[in-house]
Amino acid sequence: KFITLEGIEGVGKTTNVEFVKQHLQKQGISVVVTREPGGTLIAEKIRDLLLQQNSESLSEQAELLLVFAARAQHIKHVIEPALLQGNWVVSDRFTDATYAYQGGGRAMKTSAIEWLEHWVQGHLKPDLTLLLDAPVDVGMARAKARGGSDRFEDERNSFFERVRRAYLLQAELYPERIKLIKANQPLIDVQHAMVESMRVLLR
Ligand code: C5P
Ligand code: MG
Repeated sequence: KFITLEGIEGVGKTTNVEFVKQHLQKQGISVVVTREPGGTLIAEKIRDLLLQQNSESLSEQAELLLVFAARAQHIKHVIEPALLQGNWVVSDRFTDATYAYQGGGRAMKTSAIEWLEHWVQGHLKPDLTLLLDAPVDVGMARAKARGGSDRFEDERNSFFERVRRAYLLQAELYPERIKLIKANQPLIDVQHAMVESMRVLLR
């Protein structure tokens, strides 16, 4: 099975990916944890290109294509082989992030994203997506406290409002796959909600 965690900056994706991994391992499942953009040598280099502040600005089209270039690499070298070997894959972000950041944040055409999604992924889709949702100011405060801001974290709050709205739209469009988890509640409650959402897959 393929599980993804999504959400804006500072909602606790990385912490919760670790929790999901441990929860699945306790059920005897072998788990491969990965992340996007990244997850392979070349995809991590593309991630650096995406996140670095350069003197030359990155065009929106270049950003979108780089995200999918990294994803093509990630699917071929990590996700598909791991699934074929019977592992479960847990990824910190996947294609819903593209609908949210490039589609919502950058206001790029959804039709272009859909075309690339189909071309790069074929039928590969997550079996379950945990969307960690919190108001933008909550997430941004946590991301700032953590430090080390990248090209995206310097964006204005209005950008992240559009990102959040696009994530919530994805959840409305795909209610079977995407489970909305309130991230601004105590960690124990967030984790309880994630365990509930994973129950169907574990049957
Ligand atoms: O998940 P993480 O916060 O490490 O992601 C790194 C950065 O890449 C984030 O700042 C996120 O906003 C950005 N990103 C993006 N478009 C994607 C995926 C991630 O802008 N499709
Ligand atoms: Mg980040």
